[in-house]
Amino acid sequence: KPKPIVIANWKLNGGIDLICTSVASFIGKHFDAQIAICPPYIYMRDMLTFLQHSEISIGSQNVSKFESGAYTGETSAQMLKQAGCKLCLIGHSERRAMFGESNLSCQIKVQTALNHGLLPVLCIGENLEERDANITKAVIFRQLSEGLHNINLEGKELCIAYEPVWAIGTGLSATPAMAQEIHQFIRRELAVLLGKETAGRIRLLYGGSVNKTNARELLAQADIDGLLVGGASLDPGHFLAICQLA
Ligand code: 13P
Repeated sequence: KPKPIVIANWKLNGGIDLICTSVASFIGKHFDAQIAICPPYIYMRDMLTFLQHSEISIGSQNVSKFESGAYTGETSAQMLKQAGCKLCLIGHSERRAMFGESNLSCQIKVQTALNHGLLPVLCIGENLEERDANITKAVIFRQLSEGLHNINLEGKELCIAYEPVWAIGTGLSATPAMAQEIHQFIRRELAVLLGKETAGRIRLLYGGSVNKTNARELLAQADIDGLLVGGASLDPGHFLAICQLA
């Protein structure tokens, strides 16, 4: 198995207090897994400065599909890279549901991130309606095939985060077996789309009500290579415990 990766997504949460307690919890610690925190943009620089001698990377929750120009409110991949950011989430379900993110815009963002040396973490997953209608795999296949259309990963890294929408923020995590079934499906489809060798080195993260109680068993599944943590990452002690299980 590749080195596991655990990512905190703070979403629109946090403040100076959370930054201070997180820094205090993480500085000087060693982890077997790769750890990243995605704070709101405004806190990125502080986090980068405070955590520069730690093992923690900083990521962004989104990235612009544009390079530069008259695009009010946007932040480019190049800016993130130059600031010291290592990775970016792309196509989180909240951005798909509330901010008009499409598979096509995800595809452009994945390419842009790769072009600028950021690790793209493409987020996919079905909502409850889709699961109930038994179209989970069709939805995921479409998110993958359109989101990765024409993407060349030669020599580059990519992560896929599977986050079933019904499990996000609900306390209702997918069971490890359910998550593994979908991850295995994702791995197979990636092999069809990008080749077996490439599919084998893409890390697949699970997200959706991950906590320190379910983290270990999720990570033990054959095709789960990491975790994307929302709510539990807002408690630094809790997030630290999850990181130490990976
Ligand atoms: P929760 O861990 O709060 O369910 O959020 C998951 C998520 O959306 C991470 O990106």
